[in-house]
Amino acid sequence: MSNCAICQAPLPLDSATCIYAVPESEAPWRADYAAMHRGSMTHLEHKIHVARWSLHNASSQTEKALGVFRTLALAHAGERIHVFQVSEARA
Ligand SMILES: [Zn+2]
Repeated sequence: MSNCAICQAPLPLDSATCIYAVPESEAPWRADYAAMHRGSMTHLEHKIHVARWSLHNASSQTEKALGVFRTLALAHAGERIHVFQVSEARA
């Protein structure tokens, strides 16, 4: 198994597209706030989701923010973090 070259997230298959390479409307962090409120997700896990997604959507980020995101993504390279679905988060 390899990690995404952009955000260091584990790829399900070496040829797979990274789950973070999506527009904001499909961003993997969309259900995080509900999940954190429920206690199903830590704030750090949410920050890693946002960092990975932001590295794939770099045009809307400042260089300073990207530096912080890169550091966080590298520190958690290959780490699996559960992605909650919006419908699941509301349950
Ligand atoms: Zn990625």
